[in-house]
Amino acid sequence: MTFPALTDPLVLASHNAGKLREIRALLEPLGLRVIDAGEAAITEPEETEDSFTGNAELKARHSAVHSGKTALADDSGLVVPALDGAPGIYSARWAGEDKNFTAAMQRVEKELRAKGHTPTGTPAYFVCALSLAWPSGEQLSVEGTVHGTLRFPPCGEKGFGYDPIFVATGMQQSFAEIDPEHKHAISHRADAFAKLLSALKTERLVA
Ligand code: IMP
Repeated sequence: MTFPALTDPLVLASHNAGKLREIRALLEPLGLRVIDAGEAAITEPEETEDSFTGNAELKARHSAVHSGKTALADDSGLVVPALDGAPGIYSARWAGEDKNFTAAMQRVEKELRAKGHTPTGTPAYFVCALSLAWPSGEQLSVEGTVHGTLRFPPCGEKGFGYDPIFVATGMQQSFAEIDPEHKHAISHRADAFAKLLSALKTERLVA
């Protein structure tokens, strides 16, 4: 598929200031400017798809159509195969409106026990789907992962979300115990961005 040129700026289909900061830092060295959906006065659509990529594509498409610019969206979460993939695309929702990740991590542990598993040592992985959508309808999507195991009780103060229970393969400490720079170098988001940049280079959309 051939893609039209990227617009300048791109729109990030998110109202999350942390994500905008992180994504700006990754894209600005390539000469790509990014504004967020809030600046572009775009609402967030409901995430109605049943996969990370489906939801990232839905959000990117919505922002591209409403802004007339190329839009980038992400969707991410923790997948536990022993829980049939839960919390998966519902990772944020498991924490409830008050974003209580202590409760969400307890629920992971409780559901593993209920299924007869020993929670510590259970394989799990984080997924980050990224999708770029053009107003003319083209879409370019990639998925990044980082594999590891779960560890209970939760440990560490540095991360967010499910970081305190996730230990990446080959590591001893949880994602919430290691330095953020270290996590950012090996995370599902880093993997997804590397894949996106490689695809943009292959398509000659960035130098
Ligand atoms: P969303 O992609 O903003 O819809 O939210 C994904 C949810 O997945 C977050 O609220 C976190 O709970 C979880 N999540 C995604 N990435 C990470 C991560 O790097 N560490 C811990 N939790 C994560």
